[in-house]
Amino acid sequence: MSTPQSIVVGGGLAGMSAAIAVAKVGLDTVHLAPKGPPDRRTSALMMPTVQYLQSAGLIGDAAEIGHPLTQIRIIDATGRLVRAPETLFDSVEAGLPAFGWNFSNVKLLERFEAARSRLTNLRTIEQSVTSLDRVSDGWRVELTDGSSIVAPLLVGSDGKKSMVRTAAGFRARENGFTEAALVCDLELGRPLGGASVEFHYPRGPFTLVPAGGSRANLVWIDDRDVLKAAQAAGPEELRQTFIDKSQRLFGDIRLLTPAHMFMLSTLSVDEAGHDGVVLAGEAAHAFPPIGAQGLNLGLRDVADLSAALSGVDPDNAGWAIAASEDYSRRRSADLGRTGGMVDTLFRSLLSGMLPAQAMRAGGLWALKLSPQLRTQAFSVGMGIR
Ligand SMILES: Cc1cc2nc3c(=O)[nH]c(=O)nc-3n(C[C@H](O)[C@H](O)[C@H](O)COP(=O)(O)OP(=O)(O)OC[C@H]3O[C@@H](n4cnc5c(N)ncnc54)[C@H](O)[C@@H]3O)c2cc1C
Repeated sequence: MSTPQSIVVGGGLAGMSAAIAVAKVGLDTVHLAPKGPPDRRTSALMMPTVQYLQSAGLIGDAAEIGHPLTQIRIIDATGRLVRAPETLFDSVEAGLPAFGWNFSNVKLLERFEAARSRLTNLRTIEQSVTSLDRVSDGWRVELTDGSSIVAPLLVGSDGKKSMVRTAAGFRARENGFTEAALVCDLELGRPLGGASVEFHYPRGPFTLVPAGGSRANLVWIDDRDVLKAAQAAGPEELRQTFIDKSQRLFGDIRLLTPAHMFMLSTLSVDEAGHDGVVLAGEAAHAFPPIGAQGLNLGLRDVADLSAALSGVDPDNAGWAIAASEDYSRRRSADLGRTGGMVDTLFRSLLSGMLPAQAMRAGGLWALKLSPQLRTQAFSVGMGIR
């Protein structure tokens, strides 16, 4: 492959799946994916996303690498004046064997890498992009070794701080939070079964996600100074904090991995594609990890990228610009809806205002009492289109 038809930037889960999708529609593709530290997060992926991964040949049997999520249990631990009822959502009610599956990002990436290695029109270069500019026949990207590549189509899946987004002139709105997320793998005295259990505290949820047997993945959102102090206190104190935060419902707790912290912010763009450039994954959208939406949305970006590229004729001048505009149109409603939903949910969880607390508690009461509303909530939460 001398001059590629597309360049995909970023070796995370969005970039890897985007590179595969673009190559699969038949475009000669270069994937720029510098090696980074292992991604210690896990991803709860909803059933439609899992089905997409299977149909795209990115994973096989979900049970080989993941753990089913059959229930979501929400416990109001805010101690506020207006409290929500304990609420249990069961996938049986949605007529499904599970809402989705929980995967380790490392295992997902391994499967994606295997799928990538089978494509002969996809070349991987383990280098970063240092700059990019518009040239007559597309976009020219410069790499860390000083070499450069030009292609008509450029996919920016280079994460929250995306250089592609900035250099290609996308307008983005960003908002940082003082909250952060702490993640860690745990062994519980009593297994979760298939239930993801969320304890809603005033500064954010403390969520245990099933990871097989008596294992659980923890995602604890709180003020970043509180998390830093908990982390600095050492493993024994941290273990005790986890036992207290889980209200001793799951017995003793053992830490299986060190705790890692992630800063939280929101990011949205006015458009996800223009002038031959498309943004996918956190380059286009970021929000706090509540309701397990981030990667689900990123993989819907990739599914729409495939759709926008299917049938393009690279011999037609302007094909990449038309495809980027088509992609932007396809992504507009989903990005707006999902970003808005997570933002509202997060702010209502943290709000100290009585009306917001009442609305959240009222909403959970309504969901608890109305099967019809629960069915609608399942569809929205699972990203059913
Ligand atoms: C604690 C936590 C829990 C989460 N849980 C869930 C969940 O349960 N379900 C869910 O759907 N989502 C979840 N998410 C969100 C999900 O993890 C992210 O949406 C997803 O991992 C983002 O993938 P990405 O590929 O877009 O970005 P990243 O993983 O950040 O990858 C970006 C890549 O781009 C590369 N890069 C950056 N700059 C350059 C450059 N100049 N040149 C070349 N490459 C570059 C980086 O090296 C990196 O490999 C969670 C997030 C957090 C923080």
